[in-house]
Amino acid sequence: MSGTAEPTRGAAPPAGGTDPRDRGGPAQPLLAVDGLVKHFASKGGLFGKGPVVRAVDGVDFAIAKGETLGVVGESGCGKSTTARLLMQINRPDRGDIVFDGELLGSRALDLKSYRRQVQMVFQDSYASLNPRLTVEESVAFGPRAHGLSGSAALARAHDLLRRVGLEPRRFGGRYPHEISGGQRQRVNIARALALEPRLLILDEAVSALDKSVEAQVLNLLADLKREFGLTYMFISHDLNVVRFMSDRVMVMYLGRIAEIGPADAILAAPRHPYTAALLASQPSTDPDARLDEAPLTGDPPNPINPPPGCRFHTRCRFAAEVCRTREPALDPVAPAHFAACHMAVPGSGHPDAPQLPMAA
Ligand code: SF4
Repeated sequence: MSGTAEPTRGAAPPAGGTDPRDRGGPAQPLLAVDGLVKHFASKGGLFGKGPVVRAVDGVDFAIAKGETLGVVGESGCGKSTTARLLMQINRPDRGDIVFDGELLGSRALDLKSYRRQVQMVFQDSYASLNPRLTVEESVAFGPRAHGLSGSAALARAHDLLRRVGLEPRRFGGRYPHEISGGQRQRVNIARALALEPRLLILDEAVSALDKSVEAQVLNLLADLKREFGLTYMFISHDLNVVRFMSDRVMVMYLGRIAEIGPADAILAAPRHPYTAALLASQPSTDPDARLDEAPLTGDPPNPINPPPGCRFHTRCRFAAEVCRTREPALDPVAPAHFAACHMAVPGSGHPDAPQLPMAA
């Protein structure tokens, strides 16, 4: 952690950083992230240490109390690493995390207290559960570890299992391999809720489920959010699911934020060519629809050696000379809507650059 100052409750700006409100962030953030960086040393090289993978390369955002921030991008864009940094599964190289006005690592917010308030649900429902614990033992484990008596922890587990639609008398004594994938993910959600968190990070939490089960779990998540007053960070590669769940959307590309803003605005009228290409790549519900050409070609560049200038320029059909040499800032393009593209604001790009159709 880079910060040393200790913000007091209600002081929104992260230490050493800028106010998230200046970047279109919410006025009352539950979580504010400033300058988050994580580079991993890849394997290989002379002493087993290869070149550095820039997994997350300077990310600032905030999530308001009670909102859902959808996070999208291709594999390797940094969305899951960002989630793991927020959970402190991996420690950031740099950057501050401020939760409800308190800097993580300060006297006012230690890691244990933070971890109780921020919980995560992963994509792999089976790997997330201890195969030797029954369903009710898994859900009761966290409360017991935090000092609740065995009977009180079990009572809480049964209550939560009912809330997620699993009758404790029928499911409580089963092991993870004895229930379906959808039921296991309900157990994981109950387990995440057992410590009464305020922020839930859902990392591709419904991606491995059948479509019919996915819809049930999404509805359950929406109900639980209302019932418990939760805040969600919802990571998914499926833009239709993100559209259903999110108040705002953050689009990541190669370790940086490409675009962030209100979900309606971004999904209806994206201002970054990468967001537009992601949207155009979504399968159509029309069985006769055909794409004349793929909207997004090639793989993302290697995060070991990101392209200079705009990181998207190697795949962007609007790329101009300026894009190859100057990195675009995440600038406002509309109220509370930001995009990192030289051409996203009409008239602001290079004179030789074509006007983006979505910015017209
Ligand atoms: Fe494309 Fe240039 Fe915008 Fe990057 S800055 S997204 S290369 S138009």
